[in-house]
Amino acid sequence: MSISNLHQNISQIRSRLSEAADRVQRSRDSVKLIAVSKTKPVAAIKRVYETGQRDFGENYVAEAIDKITACESLDICWHFLGPLQSNKTRLVAAHFDWIHSVDRIKVAQRLNDQRPATLPPLNVCLQVNIPAEATKSGVSSETALLELALAVDKMDRLKLRGIMAIPAPTKDPLEQREQFNRIAGLLNIPGLPAGMTELSMGMSSDMEAAIAEGATMVRIGTDIFGARYT
Ligand SMILES: *Cc1c(COP(=O)(O)O)cnc(C)c1O
Repeated sequence: MSISNLHQNISQIRSRLSEAADRVQRSRDSVKLIAVSKTKPVAAIKRVYETGQRDFGENYVAEAIDKITACESLDICWHFLGPLQSNKTRLVAAHFDWIHSVDRIKVAQRLNDQRPATLPPLNVCLQVNIPAEATKSGVSSETALLELALAVDKMDRLKLRGIMAIPAPTKDPLEQREQFNRIAGLLNIPGLPAGMTELSMGMSSDMEAAIAEGATMVRIGTDIFGARYT
């Protein structure tokens, strides 16, 4: 993907997002677009930033910190999306605004302890994987989700915002809708803390279905930055 295509790609994604929201009578502003820049160079981030995009997502800690440092003068809201080992929490706590992939109390506790006092609380989505698929991270039962949510809600350097999911890939739009509908339903589990309103779901190949089922944040990589080769 050449850098000159990026402006065109982002404007196509914005149109897709608006049309998807229109179709289900949602306002365009009710869905935040996160540009997932993992494996892509800083120059590409800057090109997309020029179009007004402010939310960017990264998956790999070391790569992300290099890019965040290189983009220090830009007004970017950084979202951490990848699996996180507990020995890397300090860097995420110090450099990100959001993390979407918290699925264990231990990781949450470390992020809470390590969030610098000079920064606002770290925004957190809990990653869910219900029904559980063998290969993926995420809490795998409603009971585990409730338990984790109640624990995170008590941590004052974390701000519990909602849930994130990556359903099993399928090209069938009806199946996509069904999966996202089930994920959205998890926000109605009795006893969940108030304030869990964010639904981080939908990627390049299924963002329309996710928006139809209530996604408040879609995470788009390939259809903005092109295919990844690493
Ligand atoms: C890579 C990634 C994305 C973006 O996926 P695309 O299919 O390239 O749009 C979104 N969310 C997570 C968690 C990812 O790891």
